[in-house]
Amino acid sequence: MNSILLSGGRIIDPAHGIDEIGDVLIQDGIIAQRGGEISPPKNAKIYNLAGKVITPGLIDIQVHLREPGREDKETLETGLKSALCGGITSVVSMPNTTPITDSQSPVEFQIKRAKELNLANLFPSGAITKGQKGEMLSEMWEMKNSGIVAVTDDGVDVQNEGILEKAMLYAKTHGLVLMSHCQNEDMSGNGVMHEGAVSTRLALPGISAEAEDMGVFKNLILAEKTGCRLHLLHNSTKNAVELIAMFQKRGVLVTAETCPQYFCLTDEICNGYNTFAKMYPPIRSKEHQKAVIEGLKNGTISVISTDHAPHLHSEKLRSFLEATWGSVGLETSFAAGYTYLVKAGHLSLSQLVEKMTINPAKVIGIQRGTLEKGAVADISVFDLDIKWTAKVSEMQTKGKNCVFEGMEFFGKPIHVFVAGEEKLEKILSY
Ligand SMILES: [Zn+2]
Repeated sequence: MNSILLSGGRIIDPAHGIDEIGDVLIQDGIIAQRGGEISPPKNAKIYNLAGKVITPGLIDIQVHLREPGREDKETLETGLKSALCGGITSVVSMPNTTPITDSQSPVEFQIKRAKELNLANLFPSGAITKGQKGEMLSEMWEMKNSGIVAVTDDGVDVQNEGILEKAMLYAKTHGLVLMSHCQNEDMSGNGVMHEGAVSTRLALPGISAEAEDMGVFKNLILAEKTGCRLHLLHNSTKNAVELIAMFQKRGVLVTAETCPQYFCLTDEICNGYNTFAKMYPPIRSKEHQKAVIEGLKNGTISVISTDHAPHLHSEKLRSFLEATWGSVGLETSFAAGYTYLVKAGHLSLSQLVEKMTINPAKVIGIQRGTLEKGAVADISVFDLDIKWTAKVSEMQTKGKNCVFEGMEFFGKPIHVFVAGEEKLEKILSY
């Protein structure tokens, strides 16, 4: 039997309210024992983790991996290595690949390739509509049978409410959560950054907070009508947080997430026409940042994802109007959360870990995100005292666009186990 003992670390397992010093025993890829002092079996490999933090492997449910089709930006291999370097053991890939993942074969390709790679776990999502065009529904049932865990047209919102309503009924029938990118395109128009004082100063066309709010409202109304499980991606506005809280109180099955860029940064980051800060939703003003943090604190926002969106350097070295949208984020998300939410006094470490493990696992319905006996041994070990500076040149991702470049963070994974296999040592020794 293959045994590994994680000895004397601070074990954080929010699914069971655990935050205590103790040992974890892994046997044949499964958590055999958790907590207290465990005497190691013969031949066990022992990791002495005094002063370190042991958490369930992190789960990121919004990641753009680009393969198939845009392997120049990212591949499943570089993306999944990047995830592991952030302490993330499971990712949900977004369907805006080339071609769009709207039928069985791209789903099967991704699952097969991820198995061969044997890095982090990959759970693909499928498109809501064919080609993400917002016109005809995708092959949800076939994709579900091939292994998707959610449907989303992320990158765009389904603009036609009649089609969105049908999609929600269809997703509900197939037991799939529908994940919405909320945006009213008539309102966001040709905007490139948050509409406010900074966009006025830079003379750049703005995207109002209300363009997102309208999308949020329509999705909530339709989820209430259809009874579909709804997850709202990358929320960034004050009204979005308030509307979601209101509909959660009414019993609507809606969960919500945000990403580090929306709680770490404000639209001031766009100053100097910094195209690395161009993303959708746009990074917003202080007022919205505060509301997002409040939503994280009061539980309205239960998930932190990254919206990891790798691009070529050349695609950002354009004018602000022409640059592509998005930033890489897999290797900085835990550190950003720890530095800007935990160290800043907004969340406890356990609350942060909850939003990056058990809560996203529940959204997509996978048996991960806990350290309970019998669970698959997906485990991350963090050293919270490591102070480091984000440099995209040192990251595993192929993406060259990082909005966090040069920022100082605390906390880094030092060991990452997937089904009991240490993955990080191998990647970092290359
Ligand atoms: Zn999106």
